[in-house]
Amino acid sequence: GSSDYSDAKRVLETIQAWYVKNLENNPTAKQYLLDRGIAQSSIERFGIGYVPDGNSVIHFLNSALLPLPKAVEAGILAQGEGGRYYARLVERITFPIYSTSGGAVGFGGRTITNHPAKYINSPQTKLFNKSRLLYGYDLAKESIYKNKKLIVCEGYLDVVMFHQAGFTEAVATLGTALTAEHLPLLRKGDPKVILAYDGDKAGVAAALKAAQMLSVSGFDGGVVLFPDGQDPADLIAKGQSEAVAKLLREAKPLIPFVLEQTIYAYNLHDPRAKEAAFGAAKQFLDGLSQIIKDAYIPMTATLLGVSPALFGKQTQPNRAKES
Ligand code: ATP
Ligand code: MN
Ligand code: MN
Ligand code: MN
Repeated sequence: GSSDYSDAKRVLETIQAWYVKNLENNPTAKQYLLDRGIAQSSIERFGIGYVPDGNSVIHFLNSALLPLPKAVEAGILAQGEGGRYYARLVERITFPIYSTSGGAVGFGGRTITNHPAKYINSPQTKLFNKSRLLYGYDLAKESIYKNKKLIVCEGYLDVVMFHQAGFTEAVATLGTALTAEHLPLLRKGDPKVILAYDGDKAGVAAALKAAQMLSVSGFDGGVVLFPDGQDPADLIAKGQSEAVAKLLREAKPLIPFVLEQTIYAYNLHDPRAKEAAFGAAKQFLDGLSQIIKDAYIPMTATLLGVSPALFGKQTQPNRAKES
């Protein structure tokens, strides 16, 4: 019922204030953020905090008279063997995730003790639908509407550092791929969408899927792949905001990015592979509006090394019917 809802909300608000206080009192956690180049103003703006050991979490919830089952509903605690309660986030920097209507609904937590799970996110709860939300959207919204631009990056720290460097249109997915569920939020204010992903294998694959989806959904925008194992947070922390700005200015537009990535995945010297590349490119173009499609046929033909006329014709050879 609605009282469960407000109880879980109360847990989230109370625990958020406690995380913030913990950070102020923990020199190791503060030093970690300092070493990552994060300014005090960013810590405050994003409500970044720290969660110590699990016993402290349980102790705090009890002392604040917050029922432990409500903390489970809020995604703060989980229950293990025999119903024992334990904290999901332990010895981590905490990033509160706000819903579009305000109020923390979940947290991302980064280990500062080299735990093998570098990040842990709150689970899906009644309040927290992570496949629809974008981290930082609440703080980015004004710039997105004003500048008609939105930057999607991979991580919490990328968002924080983008904002710190003045790129206040940056948001991130919450440890998931960009999917159709994000589209309603992305459409708001009709921005150009720039994907700013790591240039590693995972980043390129994620960028291709996202760029395909955005293109067929009618978005304008582009892709930036950050080179040499460095992400936006790394570059900005090293004082290279100007290099970041240049990369963003030179973003590869969405449709050419998809076409190049799709076609260059094949060995075009092999006729059968070339045929497959043609099929993949054509399938992508067929998902676009007729006018956009026609505009990109010459480029596609050039990339493939075929005649543009091929795109207007029946391309499957007449094969004997298989029984
Ligand atoms: P950092 O700069 O703190 O080392 P990052 O953001 O650069 O982290 P990546 O390895 O590039 O980390 O991962 C990108 C994003 O993917 C993270 O910010 C996080 O949201 C998500 N992620 C990474 N590792 C995990 C994990 N083990 N579980 C869930 N999400 C993860
Ligand atoms: Mn990466
Ligand atoms: Mn990083
Ligand atoms: Mn990264």
